[in-house]
Amino acid sequence: MKKIQMVDLKGQYNQIKDTVNPSIQEVIETTSFINGPKVHEFQRNLEQYLDVKHVIPCANGTDALQIAMMGLGLKPGDEVITADFTFAATVEVIALLNLTPVLVDVNPDDFNINIEAIKKAITPKTKAIVPVHLFGQCANMEAIMEIAKSHNLFVIEDNAQAIGATYTYKDGTKAKAGTIGHVSSTSFFPSKNLGCYGDGGAIFTNDDDLAHTIRGIVNHGMYERYHHDVVGVNSRLDSIQAAVLDAKLPHLDDYCDRRRDAANKYDEAFKNISSIETPYRNGSDDNHVFHQYTLKVKDIDRDALVKHLNAHNIPCGVYYPIPLHLQKAYADSRYNEADFSITNQLVNDVISLPMHTELDDEQIEYITSTLINFINE
Ligand SMILES: *Cc1c(COP(=O)(O)O)cnc(C)c1O
Repeated sequence: MKKIQMVDLKGQYNQIKDTVNPSIQEVIETTSFINGPKVHEFQRNLEQYLDVKHVIPCANGTDALQIAMMGLGLKPGDEVITADFTFAATVEVIALLNLTPVLVDVNPDDFNINIEAIKKAITPKTKAIVPVHLFGQCANMEAIMEIAKSHNLFVIEDNAQAIGATYTYKDGTKAKAGTIGHVSSTSFFPSKNLGCYGDGGAIFTNDDDLAHTIRGIVNHGMYERYHHDVVGVNSRLDSIQAAVLDAKLPHLDDYCDRRRDAANKYDEAFKNISSIETPYRNGSDDNHVFHQYTLKVKDIDRDALVKHLNAHNIPCGVYYPIPLHLQKAYADSRYNEADFSITNQLVNDVISLPMHTELDDEQIEYITSTLINFINE
């Protein structure tokens, strides 16, 4: 059996090296390392794939979030509501811009930001909501857009984990994750569903004016060479990373299918195990792209299970072990523990199994039987 990894980047590379290598080589030969034709080519191809008007590439997913917030003109003291159960990048950039992060609880089933909690957190200072499409499945965007409209708020989708996912509206129409809010951010970190071979990120929007503003912000606030109209940053996707991404983008739908296949096999193996809750799926089959395959365990010692799997050479992860509102950097005396009951529980119950495009049946069978053996012991 092949060694089991959380993410098998080498196995994936071996499948596509015949297109990735020449794509990288082409950049080196042309020496257009920054803002070269590859970056524009990838940008246009991603716009087409997502059916969004503007993709603005940048240096990483954290920058993408920060730049989206800068582009919207959010001001110090503005309150931004986001989920307590996510990677810290989301809340970090809110704090860095001297905006006020307002963390709220999530749903127990899909782990995404809770709609009632958002409503409860809105004050006259609230300016934006940042739903994070956690583990590869969209938050309830229809409800979030309604709240935003009635309170005149911006919606910034953190789509770092859900690129390629579909969102299905109540009436059955569909849109790609990251094209529903006013602006979205994504990450091309190597282990993300569309990952490059270094750091990378992008911002998406359908708003022409916002896209223009953001294109200046990523480039030192310049709209005309050496004219700095706003305070910007230096955040670029380099051409070699764009070459990798452009070679991988045609495979993204297949990658999503492979992840879903692996998820279906895990689901099947665990379906009669009462102490395991398999991932909840919203809407239709293409809605979840399984950036992570995350179980909830009941009545078993999660940390002992982690040790058991590791002892059998099965890597696994706990995403995330500490709620953001309990992190030293983001603690706030205004928070009330009773408002975070779901996140406080999830951090004890979740465990993510290996999930990537190269998992084979033998590996999945070994992982599931090792896990079930632990439960039956
Ligand atoms: C990975 C990730 C980010 C940050 O992306 P980087 O490219 O690592 O900066 C932001 N938000 C979420 C939810 C992520 O998973």
